[in-house]
Amino acid sequence: MALRTLLSDTVGGYRLTSAEGRLLIEANDRDILAVAAAADEVREERVGDRVTYVRNQNLHVTNVCKNLCGFCGFGKAKGAPGTYLFGRDEVQRKARLAVGRGVTEICPLSGVHPDFTVESYVDLIRWIREVAPDVDIHTCSPEEVSYVAGKAGVSTREVLERMREAGLGTLQGTAAEILVDEVRAVICPRKCDTATWLRVIREAHEMGIRSTATIMYGAGESGADRVTHLDRLRELQDATGGFTELVPMSYVYQNTPLYRAGLAPPGATGREDILMIAVARLYLDNFDHVQVSWGKVGTKMVSILLLAGGDDLGGTMFEDEVSVDAGAGEASYMNPAAMARIANDLGRRLCRRSTTYEILAEESAV
Ligand code: SF4
Repeated sequence: MALRTLLSDTVGGYRLTSAEGRLLIEANDRDILAVAAAADEVREERVGDRVTYVRNQNLHVTNVCKNLCGFCGFGKAKGAPGTYLFGRDEVQRKARLAVGRGVTEICPLSGVHPDFTVESYVDLIRWIREVAPDVDIHTCSPEEVSYVAGKAGVSTREVLERMREAGLGTLQGTAAEILVDEVRAVICPRKCDTATWLRVIREAHEMGIRSTATIMYGAGESGADRVTHLDRLRELQDATGGFTELVPMSYVYQNTPLYRAGLAPPGATGREDILMIAVARLYLDNFDHVQVSWGKVGTKMVSILLLAGGDDLGGTMFEDEVSVDAGAGEASYMNPAAMARIANDLGRRLCRRSTTYEILAEESAV
């Protein structure tokens, strides 16, 4: 009964405390569906019957990474077999291919190569801008910005300014994982700490560079950790309003060191996936959009999560080696017609959007 009252108050506009967020994220049994239904009501109130997606392409430049996070199956040590590092010609070939596919967003997404410098990122953005003048170049996490700023002895603001001058559109809110340092010490000990992640995002927003926010869950953190993460995002969004959306990413565990060493569970359960989306929708009362990442949860689960507060399907994602290498079966491409089928099947409309959620077109299923 107390839970039902809390949910109806939240639908009516009450802001959840972190203790109440923890109560909801630990729901069980039929309460799970009640939390999801409340989140679905809030979703409808905020964005109506639209399900959105962006026509985009990832662009992997290197899989060499200094961080070797335990939850990642993509990053490899410098010199390891199977590593690659593309230069200008290959980057521009991929960018031209993306433009030919009609994308509005290109997402360079790579390992954090130990030899990368500020110039490496500035050049990368400039190469893409030369052949794709009209797309949103959505790239660089706070981890990448702070790494090269530290190496060069310059401020992260200066790095962001140079990236923007080269053609950066929006910043990736990746590398957030779980914004709790005790969890980061286990799953990604070489990445920037929580305070640095939040500071770089705040600086970007203050400069007018918008970003996504992400959460990577299911690798052994607690429900309380997930809510702490949401709380930190909500507080920053109150201050800047610069987040476009939350992208919850369910841990793809199969080929990752953490799981193979017995240090992480085999990903989130379906219950945890539902509650992650639903509690994000209810807790983040200052975010308009919560993404359902089909590459991480699989296409059938997408329908359930769109009924639990999700309203966006992310991108067509012509290339996503990060999820595929970690063990996801179907992360490489989703046809908009297949997305429209899923949306229409729920009585909702699929719309194509820009990176910053300007509606560009309505799609129909075939
Ligand atoms: S998650 Fe990113 S930073 Fe960590 S090892 Fe993988 S590619 Fe590198």
